Amino acid sequence: MAVSRQPAGSWSEVRDLLRSRGLRWTPQRRMILDVLAATQGHVTSSEIVERCRERDPGTTPSTVYRTLDVLEELGYLKHSHGADGREEFHVLPETEHGHLTCERCGRSWEMEPQEASDLVRALERSRGFSVDVSHLTIAGQCTECITRSSAPSRPRCRLSFRVKRT
Ligand SMILES: [Zn+2]
Ligand SMILES: [Zn+2]
Ligand SMILES: [Zn+2]
Repeated sequence: MAVSRQPAGSWSEVRDLLRSRGLRWTPQRRMILDVLAATQGHVTSSEIVERCRERDPGTTPSTVYRTLDVLEELGYLKHSHGADGREEFHVLPETEHGHLTCERCGRSWEMEPQEASDLVRALERSRGFSVDVSHLTIAGQCTECITRSSAPSRPRCRLSFRVKRT
């Protein structure tokens, strides 16, 4: 999906932009933006709902989700998927990147596009397939977990793939 990328970096115009998309400017939407402006790194939509509920227990999850969708269309957010298919949002995304997730310890890391360039180019050549790097999440084992485990046993996969939407 092509995201219309604004020269994001400020939340000041977002109010007018939301209005232009037919969303009313309400105290709840203002609060959602406050929560997002205070958020860094990767965050799931349920974490955002939780943070909103800490400020206002009356937060309606559907309002939060709808606002997140529109903010993504406007380029203020970008979602990726964890290895379990869960959506994770990046607030004010700067550079496109994929993710590596360790199946043992559950940690994840950002993967630079150039690290995936061999795979991306190979798929383009062999299948004419254009890879969306921001949707590239690779599961495996991190070097620490491999070093720590004395017996090279095959870890059981704890991930279930339930991709909700693309
Ligand atoms: Zn690990
Ligand atoms: Zn990321
Ligand atoms: Zn997706």
